[in-house]
Amino acid sequence: MNIVEKYGGTSVGTLEQISAIAQHVKEMYEQGHHLIIVASAMGKTTNQLIALANQISDHVNKRELDSLLSTGEQKTVTLLAMAIGALGVPAISLTGYQCGFITSHHHAHARIKDIDITNLRHHLDDGKVVVVAGFQGATENGEITTLGRGGSDTTAVALAAKLGWECHIYTDVNGVYTIDPRLYPKARLLKEITYDEMMQMACLGAGVLETRSVELASKYNVPLFLGRALEKDKSRGTWIMEKTKHLEDMPITGISIKDDYAIMRINDLPTDGVFIARLFAMIARLNINLDTISQQLSEEGRVNFSFYCNEEQSEQILEHSEELGEEYSITRMLGFIKLSLIGVGISTHSGIASKVFDTLNANGIRYYMITSSEISISLTIEKKDREKAIRVLGDAFDLGVQKK
Ligand code: ASP
Ligand code: MG
Repeated sequence: MNIVEKYGGTSVGTLEQISAIAQHVKEMYEQGHHLIIVASAMGKTTNQLIALANQISDHVNKRELDSLLSTGEQKTVTLLAMAIGALGVPAISLTGYQCGFITSHHHAHARIKDIDITNLRHHLDDGKVVVVAGFQGATENGEITTLGRGGSDTTAVALAAKLGWECHIYTDVNGVYTIDPRLYPKARLLKEITYDEMMQMACLGAGVLETRSVELASKYNVPLFLGRALEKDKSRGTWIMEKTKHLEDMPITGISIKDDYAIMRINDLPTDGVFIARLFAMIARLNINLDTISQQLSEEGRVNFSFYCNEEQSEQILEHSEELGEEYSITRMLGFIKLSLIGVGISTHSGIASKVFDTLNANGIRYYMITSSEISISLTIEKKDREKAIRVLGDAFDLGVQKK
């Protein structure tokens, strides 16, 4: 088989782990598989490099920072290629640039424009295992860029998409759970989840996979597997795919949580939209991505407007709020979390919302803003109700390990 395997920072944190991966690569190679290995920086290397840069200057030059950060992944792939080579398997490491990753010029969050796979092909045709540095590329002018935090997942999926290969992402968890097991110990490991559900889970808080990589996998229909590094039993782990087989019997696939939410409100605005346009221009300048935005028309023909953001962002917005003029004030409510129930079954099953509300009501849990999409229902609830809400909803929707 042709497989792109990706190993995250926690799976390549030590030389022992790197050697164990090399051993696994040797076994796969001997079984006749063709492999590309994508690796992240060892352990907390990326954070340490950022900290170093911040000690040098308060205003770090982004171009230089990208060059610095790219060395984290380079270190892993060179060591891994050496380790694989030492076992008698032909291997070569490539930086993102050498591998042909052509990106936009946006330092620290570059987008992949294309991958020129000429060099990569050449090494694959030579029978080598190619070890590619994740998270990086270069502009057409050869300026080194990085793809944004967690970007190695995207490197791996992009290669798989380009070559039409399968992609296995290996990490320090067994796969995708119905709910984060740290929050709900009974949580069940999902064998399958759709791209759409995974995208919602990823951007609504389940940090196991970078959202962008799932988006890319979905776009190019890349078979995507997520599992624990070096787990021999491949039935443990989660396949992320277009359609799963359990659609009918499971209206809710999982629950995800986003902590530290602030609800921001501006009431009694005129309908002309001038204030809102000003507000959004400011938010764009602050580079804030708002989560849920909602606007209602009151009976008096005025507009009430609200949105969520995290606490830190709400602080930034308030600090700059004088730019918006004095006539309207933003009120902020702190101390919330956002809980989202996700499942492709939501659009086809009736009564899900009422079950959610009945369950919360019966347990004395209050909810504030509610939003829904075809495959999710999200509610803001108070922080103090976090554990209880997860428990009662997890139980109500059978998200725990099934009783035999
Ligand atoms: N090393 C990079 C980071 O820590 C990229 C990655 O791990 O995916 O964000
Ligand atoms: Mg990651």
